[in-house]
Amino acid sequence: MKIYNTLTRKKEKFVPINPGKVGIYVCGPTVYNLIHIGNARPMIVFDTLRRYLEYKGFEVNYVSNFTDVDDKIIKRANEENKIASFISEKYIEECKKDMEALNVRPATTHPKATEEIPDMIEMVKVLIEKGHAYEKNGTVYFRTRSFAPYGKLSHKNIDELEAGHRDDAHVLKVTGEDEKEDGLDFVLWKPKKEGEPSWPSPWGEGRPGWHLECSVMSKKYIGGTIDIHAGGEDLIFPHHENEIAQSEAANGTLFARYWMHNGFLRIANENDEFEKMSKSLGNFKTVREICSVYDPQVVRFFMLSAQYRSPLNFSPKLIESSKNSLERILTAADRLRDLMQSPKVNDEPEADINAIKKIDEFVDRYNAAMDDDLNTADAISVIFEFVKYINTVCEEVSTDTVGKFYDVLNVLTDTLGIIIDRKEDVLDSDIEKLIEERQLARKNKDFKRADEIRDDLLKRGIELKDTREGVKWKRL
Ligand code: AMP
Ligand code: ZN
Repeated sequence: MKIYNTLTRKKEKFVPINPGKVGIYVCGPTVYNLIHIGNARPMIVFDTLRRYLEYKGFEVNYVSNFTDVDDKIIKRANEENKIASFISEKYIEECKKDMEALNVRPATTHPKATEEIPDMIEMVKVLIEKGHAYEKNGTVYFRTRSFAPYGKLSHKNIDELEAGHRDDAHVLKVTGEDEKEDGLDFVLWKPKKEGEPSWPSPWGEGRPGWHLECSVMSKKYIGGTIDIHAGGEDLIFPHHENEIAQSEAANGTLFARYWMHNGFLRIANENDEFEKMSKSLGNFKTVREICSVYDPQVVRFFMLSAQYRSPLNFSPKLIESSKNSLERILTAADRLRDLMQSPKVNDEPEADINAIKKIDEFVDRYNAAMDDDLNTADAISVIFEFVKYINTVCEEVSTDTVGKFYDVLNVLTDTLGIIIDRKEDVLDSDIEKLIEERQLARKNKDFKRADEIRDDLLKRGIELKDTREGVKWKRL
């Protein structure tokens, strides 16, 4: 597989550090709000990368953090008269619900910044000992010029950056960071302000800087050198540049071998120009909002309709077109399932032999597209051609071949996180009725019937939980 590496600006053959194993770190959201569909793009894209690597036989250690201490969380908490952890816990749960709806699998580990503070303090200590950091009145800064390769990821020249910072000198004063030795230095640890969450440290009560969190969590859950580090392209500078500086200065080893960055999800402004969807511009649509109108599968399919590095424009018309495209795939899958119900043996095996050959060709072309820097747009085109082919020949081949069509279609779409097995619509009222029947069966000690009902519902995607407050159910 080839991956475009932001560090080298080239597509490179992917070779993991340990054969057969891959460690991926993806910067996760700051949790103070429901996530918008722009935030969902890296989640869907890199979940697809993980699925594809697993499909190729790799064992993937996928780590994605929640930034649960941050100015924006504190601000939101103050506005709502709540403590910061109430806000962050709430939005972590909401984010997980959105991820589940979009069929984004939970990470191997989802570390939270607030649970890793001792390791962060340790890294800051090491940086100070090595002369890469210094403390001024409770704030610890990274001495950027002490890390010679600074700028290597964003391909920025340190002297140009310095000049830019001098022009912004008044801004620095306003943010209270005028005690830095150099305008380029950035914060590793900041002192507590009244009403803010804080932790004890050798430099007084305070909290970590954002960049430091990812350096520490990736090291702890993957290792000193990680295979793939990913996130949206807005994170290249300064966030990822600073992560590299901290980690490489502290650990003395290469931080990440491949850097992958997704392009922006954009939305039209009032002049019909597309711009980045962002919380600060206020032009965002939450995943929750969109998924109340469209099947979350359609949203996922839409996200993968472009190669991840290209900008992707969001509009109801484009989502509608994704909906129709996905429906074509699902209809073909329905047809195959119907055909599998009526067994047929072919006296003329020619059609079957050809079909098997064709399946291999489609799979090879799908793999080639995905191997080319995860080109999901081309991979989806191959799936369409496959579906077209299925529709042309599926009546002529044996049930065995129909089954193979289905299995292959299922594997290829599943690698994209798309489910072709339509879930039967079960009405809430039917579920309630069955739960009542199950309660009655249990009361009559007819546990066999009670278990039957529970298993039947589970098959239809409904999970029951017996709690002290009664039976609770949820759709899987
Ligand atoms: P944030 O919560 O703003 O730190 O963002 C979490 C993740 O979403 C980061 O990887 C961002 O780069 C990414 N992201 C934010 N907005 C967009 C967007 N409009 N398009 C694509 N990715 C985005
Ligand atoms: Zn990060």
